[in-house]
Amino acid sequence: MNDHNNPKDATLAVWAGETGPLWENATQVPVVHSVSFGYAELAHWAKVGRGEIDGHIYSRNTNPTVRAFEEKICRLEQAQAATAFASGMAAISNTLFTLLAPGDRIVSIKDSYGGTNRIFQEFLPRFNIAVTLCDTTDQKAVETAISQGCQVLYLESPTNPTMKVVDIARLAAAAHQVGALVVVDNTFATPVNQKPLKLGADLVLHSATKYLGGHADALGGAVCGPQDHIRRIFHFREINGAALDPMAAYLLLRGMKTLPLRIERQNKSALQIAAYLQSHSSVEQVFYPGLDTHPQHAIARQQMKGFGGMLSFSVKGGYPAVEKFLPQLRYAHRAANLGAVETIVGPPATTSHVELNARQRAAMGIPENLVRYSVGIEDIADLIEDLTQALDSI
Ligand SMILES: *Cc1c(COP(=O)(O)O)cnc(C)c1O
Repeated sequence: MNDHNNPKDATLAVWAGETGPLWENATQVPVVHSVSFGYAELAHWAKVGRGEIDGHIYSRNTNPTVRAFEEKICRLEQAQAATAFASGMAAISNTLFTLLAPGDRIVSIKDSYGGTNRIFQEFLPRFNIAVTLCDTTDQKAVETAISQGCQVLYLESPTNPTMKVVDIARLAAAAHQVGALVVVDNTFATPVNQKPLKLGADLVLHSATKYLGGHADALGGAVCGPQDHIRRIFHFREINGAALDPMAAYLLLRGMKTLPLRIERQNKSALQIAAYLQSHSSVEQVFYPGLDTHPQHAIARQQMKGFGGMLSFSVKGGYPAVEKFLPQLRYAHRAANLGAVETIVGPPATTSHVELNARQRAAMGIPENLVRYSVGIEDIADLIEDLTQALDSI
């Protein structure tokens, strides 16, 4: 594919990383389960080993199926390079441990993903890395923290589970003034709705387990960005061993072909559901960046193409109402993941913030009567009817 024809996301989702010739003229990327790759000639083997010519040596380092997945996400994020991981958390931890050294400081927001928050609170401090977590929606506070000097600014938008939106372009500019690298977790938005690199981020990472794969049947992660940074992160990963399994890479590749289709539908359905919930008397508050009542709606409009398939809402009657409401839903898995073709629901206590206790969740401003709702691709009328009967039963 040449540069000047500039294919759009829906085309890239299908074709990027899948250009042959493939083994035996296969049209689909084969799952190469081979751990190692053999060479008849030592000189050839050595050149591959030194990276002078294309090829693979050992699947902890590189693998053809994994490479196709890396190419697809790389093109969708309009990055120079990408490297894949066994999970989203592996992408996050490997990236942070590559970029940071003892004595460094990282600035982030309070509403990061639960596992990421654990890295900030539990692991980075053990390596004498200072962590400053700012109020997620207080852009001035983040800018002040950045101006005091840091090596990395780590952002997530929209956030999990209260769907706060941070101004990526504004904060990235502040970080670049102090020479910091900007890392954005783009799991919730996906490259279809938001392109952090275009907004000024240096690196964008994903839990591919969620929307990219889209079918809740494979774990994976990826980080995309400039060649030099990705090479360093890849090197850390190949030694530390958080390699993506080829079968998972295949499932993620297959899922990604329909990513733009799924996201288009989920954007539309989530907006309708958010508006519907807002009008329901059993609902206290709805959190969705697409609503014009959302406090950061203007920023969301500026940096997102669509507002995504994730929303959350609090129900009247506290946690007991949540306990009554959730089992009534017919078209929803009560489960910890998100971003799949099926609708998935759960309270933060057993989903996004299972790693924290009730006191820690309260400190993060996450109400116990909150329901996280990951909109699937089901018929919108069925989903709304399902919500209606479940809410009416509270
Ligand atoms: C799920 C998730 C992760 C972690 O990904 P895993 O694949 O489960 O390791 C990181 N960030 C966000 C925003 C997520 O939703």
